[in-house]
Amino acid sequence: MVLSTAVLDTVEQICHTVADLHGELTRNELVIWTAGNVSARVPGEDLMVIKPSGVSYDELGAEKMVVTDLYGELVHGSLAPSSDTAAHAYVYRHMPEVGGVVHTHSTYATAWAARGEPIPCVLTMIADEFGGEIPVGPFAMIGDDSIGRGIVETLRGSRSPAVLMRNHGPFTVGKDARSAVKAAVMVEDVARTVHIAHQLGNPMPLKQEDIDRLHERYRNVYGQQEAR
Ligand SMILES: [Zn+2]
Repeated sequence: MVLSTAVLDTVEQICHTVADLHGELTRNELVIWTAGNVSARVPGEDLMVIKPSGVSYDELGAEKMVVTDLYGELVHGSLAPSSDTAAHAYVYRHMPEVGGVVHTHSTYATAWAARGEPIPCVLTMIADEFGGEIPVGPFAMIGDDSIGRGIVETLRGSRSPAVLMRNHGPFTVGKDARSAVKAAVMVEDVARTVHIAHQLGNPMPLKQEDIDRLHERYRNVYGQQEAR
């Protein structure tokens, strides 16, 4: 596939954004070695920008990013795309509202995934950002559509932008890559806090009506709408 100059300009900008956002994964201590990735949809095209496979985070400039179609086939760039590309691509194919996907093995969120236990909605921050408990997706093997299918099926039944794939780790989505990174940071933070609360006693659940009100308020009123 040959990309037009206009599309290439857009792609270049997105490569910079996605490269910078990988810095947030290390800054927030969500990843070790090369195990975590951010992708972004190219708006209006059936394309995505994603991290190349096996490149360390301090070498990850915009020029290293790869562009694939929404079936994970390389369209632009010289490196092989991330081994999680099929999962990201499946999400973009089936969730048109999603503009960014993030995957990490961040410690506390992955510990919940190892137990196959959803993170209960016991904090206003969880109600705000996730709209309820953070759900667990099925165990799925890497290499075909099973991870993507598990992510999409779980997220469709939930308001949460994060799913804890069982025995694996969190995948998060957002309207753009930055929102998906934010959800990845948040899911690790609440996973840690609720874990600590669990060790010391029984966290108190929020009432459903309070969760609904908090989530609505956060989505519609809170903050500078554009800056989120
Ligand atoms: Zn993984």
